[in-house]
Amino acid sequence: MTDEDFMQLAIIQAQRAGDAGEVPVGAIIIGAGGELIASAANRPITDHDPSAHAEIVALRQAGQKIGNYRLTGCTLYVTLEPCTMCAGAISHARIGRLVYGAPDVKGGAVQNGARFFDSPSCHHSPEIIGGVLQQDCAALLKDFFKARRAQKARRSQMDSSQMDNSKRDEA
Ligand SMILES: [Zn+2]
Repeated sequence: MTDEDFMQLAIIQAQRAGDAGEVPVGAIIIGAGGELIASAANRPITDHDPSAHAEIVALRQAGQKIGNYRLTGCTLYVTLEPCTMCAGAISHARIGRLVYGAPDVKGGAVQNGARFFDSPSCHHSPEIIGGVLQQDCAALLKDFFKARRAQKARRSQMDSSQMDNSKRDEA
């Protein structure tokens, strides 16, 4: 299996997240022996948990699966460039390789923003490969936010037409 093949599995998780009304980000972890040990969808809204990013959920699953908080030699695939929180957790977990899809100019902390792995407070930095199936990963997010904006616009249109009606009632 290639990095692209594994990223496809992460994309399936991202789609699951999107279907559940979460921002469509997905992650999987491949063990040192090449086996799938975690697959997770982004779920902070569902779990009422700000730390339930796909990467964190996958790291927890993988740790339980192999019975170790250190995931040495494992590869984490995620559809979006990790944020500072996730980059920190990836470093603590001693992930060997980090492969991500779309860069995140606003919230990313690997090639953008805080560039956590280059910072002096980072004690372990994985091998990093960005831009794998970038277009597919980014398209998921773009479509999701476009649909959400359209939904919001429809809703505010409805609200204002309701307001017009109530004004008419008063008059
Ligand atoms: Zn994150």
